[in-house]
Amino acid sequence: MKIINFIGIYCLLVSTVSCQNKSKEATSPTPPATVQASKEIPEKIVKWNLSEQEWKKKLDETQYYVLREQGTERAFSGKYWDNHETGTYCCAGCGLPLFNSNTKFESGTGWPSFFKPLRADLVTENTDISHGMKRTEVVCARCDGHLGHVFEDGPKPTGLRYCMNSVSLVFIPEKK
Ligand SMILES: [Zn+2]
Repeated sequence: MKIINFIGIYCLLVSTVSCQNKSKEATSPTPPATVQASKEIPEKIVKWNLSEQEWKKKLDETQYYVLREQGTERAFSGKYWDNHETGTYCCAGCGLPLFNSNTKFESGTGWPSFFKPLRADLVTENTDISHGMKRTEVVCARCDGHLGHVFEDGPKPTGLRYCMNSVSLVFIPEKK
């Protein structure tokens, strides 16, 4: 009898604990909508591994469409194609610094364009054969968020044109 009682209490305890865990999960705050972008480049890039559900909570609809579904914003519609301020452009998904304004140039395309990233390993390039074209997709090296494409018709010194979506970027102006 004692043993049965003991088992009963034990089960009750376990179920109470697991219930508490569940309710804790349910009430835990959703990640902030605005990403903590910083100009500090981490020495080593540690991958983010969020589920699509978590991304949906974190990003707004347009950000989700571009960053997670390889969408493209309308040309001349974004907030950065005509931005001439000095500063750093970070990933809108995870805040990783990606481009400096001193590598931004007038491409005439209606999308913010750069001739090189802040550091080569901050972006990853993938072959993209969607829409009947062969292009090189550029994604954030930390969160794999879609940023845009890179083309080989850019200005000196690299000859590259990183054609980015404003939606995929967060701009941090340099302090004057
Ligand atoms: Zn990112």
